[in-house]
Amino acid sequence: MTRAAELAQRWVREEIRALRAYHVADAGGLVKLDAMENPYSWPPELVEAWGATLQAVAVNRYPDPQSAGVKAALRERMGLGDGTGLLLGNGSDEIIQMLALAVAAPGRTLLAPEPSFVMYRMISAFTGLEYVGVPLRGDDFGLDLEAMRTRIEATQPAIVFLAVPNNPTGNCFPEADVRAVIEAAPGMVVIDEAYTAFSQGHLLHLAEEYPQVLVMRTLSKEGLAGLRLGILVGSEAWLGEIEKIRLPYNINVLTQAAVRFALAHGDVFEAQTAAIRAERSALADGLEKMPGVHTWPSEANFLLFRVPEGRAQAVFAGLKGAGVLVKCLDGSHPALRDCLRVTVGTAEENRCFLQALGTVLDES
Ligand SMILES: *Cc1c(COP(=O)(O)O)cnc(C)c1O
Repeated sequence: MTRAAELAQRWVREEIRALRAYHVADAGGLVKLDAMENPYSWPPELVEAWGATLQAVAVNRYPDPQSAGVKAALRERMGLGDGTGLLLGNGSDEIIQMLALAVAAPGRTLLAPEPSFVMYRMISAFTGLEYVGVPLRGDDFGLDLEAMRTRIEATQPAIVFLAVPNNPTGNCFPEADVRAVIEAAPGMVVIDEAYTAFSQGHLLHLAEEYPQVLVMRTLSKEGLAGLRLGILVGSEAWLGEIEKIRLPYNINVLTQAAVRFALAHGDVFEAQTAAIRAERSALADGLEKMPGVHTWPSEANFLLFRVPEGRAQAVFAGLKGAGVLVKCLDGSHPALRDCLRVTVGTAEENRCFLQALGTVLDES
């Protein structure tokens, strides 16, 4: 062992050493359908105007620590009332981290249904919170309210995370079930609406109705993943505390300028998300026609699907060999056995994917 390795072993916390770093697959040269990105670029006129906006940004200066311009645009877009607070993160991942840091103490827990977004578990480990995962119903990935109530009662979680629509299953939990969880929870309940642009309704009103509820959003899945902007909505009593943990310049000048520009052209993004929703139906139809493939209804910009038993890893590798990168979830959670997740791409990318999948399933 090198001296550096000895030192790291001695000083880095055991929970951290036990982790494996979040793996991001290399997508070089592949049709990239693994990370729920918006596949469309901007029209050339917009790219040009955007470039001019960015040129005017003074990168030698620190950013506005309050991101006032971005916040005003977001307030208007979301129709937030004056009494409702807003906090921004460098992606919603950073917001999850801030929330966890604010409540973490020995013996405290963070609870989420599972399978769900992996960062809830990882950030629990980073911050010293004990993670409690409550299995979703096996058949339709709905909330098991009985189990949720029992585990909430037993573990008194400081935070409950509910992703609606849920990642990686794609379904929305019914509002009545979300309310039941909120009413059972002793602490903060965060409704993670990362995919709300692709679903029928939203639950933003619950942040105004319940004092324990915060609603989290992101611009990533709508088309600005590279800018990293996460949004937290809730009461100032909570957000004022979280603000103390937020690093003052977490939203950089280029992100602030680019987000303001993008929000001023909201119609472009709305047209793109509408196109993604339409492509999702076509992709779901294509998947359902594949022999031996089962897919679940999705209100997000991805589809979860199951392939014949024991074939998931081979299908993943076969797709990659054919130039298409998806996410293999087999082995990540018992409920996701034989499952893969594909992001909705452009019509051409989806066609590529379906064709490759058909070929891979035919082989062997
Ligand atoms: C992608 C995702 C996020 C993280 O989004 P960023 O804002 O890009 O950090 C949060 N929650 C869920 C459920 C997601 O799928």
